[in-house]
Amino acid sequence: MFKRIPGTKDILPDEASLWQNIEESARKIFSLYNYREIRVPVIEEESLFNRSLGQSSEIIQKQMFLIRHQNDVYALRPEGTAGIVRSYIENNLDKKESFAKLYYIGPMFRLERPQKGRLRQFHHIGCEAIGSGCASLDIEIISLADRLLKGFCVEGYKIKINSLGCAKDKKELTVVLHKGLKNKLDKLCLDCNTRFKVNILRILDCKNDQCREVVKGLNIHEEYLCPDCKRHFEIVLKGLDLVNIKYEVSPYLVRGLDYYTRTVFEITHEELGAQDALGAGGRYDNLVKELDGPEMGAVGFAFGVERLLLVARCAPHAGKSLVYFIPLGDEARKEALKLLEDLRANAIACDMEYEGKSLKGAMRKANDLQAKVVLILGEDELKKNVVTLKDMVSGEQREIKKEDLVAELKK
Ligand code: AMP
Repeated sequence: MFKRIPGTKDILPDEASLWQNIEESARKIFSLYNYREIRVPVIEEESLFNRSLGQSSEIIQKQMFLIRHQNDVYALRPEGTAGIVRSYIENNLDKKESFAKLYYIGPMFRLERPQKGRLRQFHHIGCEAIGSGCASLDIEIISLADRLLKGFCVEGYKIKINSLGCAKDKKELTVVLHKGLKNKLDKLCLDCNTRFKVNILRILDCKNDQCREVVKGLNIHEEYLCPDCKRHFEIVLKGLDLVNIKYEVSPYLVRGLDYYTRTVFEITHEELGAQDALGAGGRYDNLVKELDGPEMGAVGFAFGVERLLLVARCAPHAGKSLVYFIPLGDEARKEALKLLEDLRANAIACDMEYEGKSLKGAMRKANDLQAKVVLILGEDELKKNVVTLKDMVSGEQREIKKEDLVAELKK
């Protein structure tokens, strides 16, 4: 028997309906904010991600699914932003509509050690607003993230926010960290010792208690921000207050990818345990240019769907009311096929007993399927040109002329 690959998941029909709810709710909320869907390939050139995410990022260092083909190396996308920016530039959207609000829903791939909340194929619901550096857009996008969570009936989440500043400020922060930490390396964990050499900013959000203590001792606040970035951050925070969004300024929040600048945020939920991030995002004002497009600001975020489902509390929508046919005998089955066609042409969801069950067995099946109406078609009914309709809610049963069936069911 074949088994699925570790870190992947089968989404079986019962669960798939929850996914549909989440996706449907997300689409509605995205359109409230005037975002439009974009679908890009799940496979891109490896170099796109190398250039976007940064050589020293954990994803590039050890989590890429690579496919070698002749002289090319392709990668399964580990995240959505790089491919969308590539598409935005390649399809000249910068010239056609310059400011674009885009959303996406789809699978991402990272070669991680599988554990609860950490898969090798997982799914993002995310968005990108490309073409503006306006601080109001940061506020809007955090409001959008918040509204999505409310739409999914998630409660008890925390929005943490920070500003990394512009590229210059990030360099400045790197220097501050370098100076502050170079004599404290023996107090940092092994990973942070590596980070010190390759990606020093990541030391800030190490979860190790001792590393946290050392970092706290550095007393880093916003002093590395230039006046423009400081102002931008103030506008964002004031705007969030204005629209009543609760947040926590978290001076040690950094994101794992090189492209982030200025506002970064992360949304966590205690119930998720060790992997507590539901979603994250921020500004990436230099990425479009770095991928050979024009200079323009951009901001985005992504939620992990698998983690959303662990904390979403919405009951699934009531299923479409189903009509279930029980034909008794071959002639009845033929007749039922015709009637099924008729009902479906009239947008009435219906199905038929296909396993040759007895009437009793078929009724049990109708119950399992939560059918609202059962239609029984036996020899008697065929002779009289009627079907027997059983209302599964009231239990009432009556004969209906075939030609009246559609109108009756539409009631
Ligand atoms: P990131 O791009 O790493 O900031 O991811 C955004 C969100 O995707 C995270 O907050 C998680 O909810 C989700 N996520 C990231 N990596 C994984 C993974 N390996 N398995 C499941 N969900 C993930």
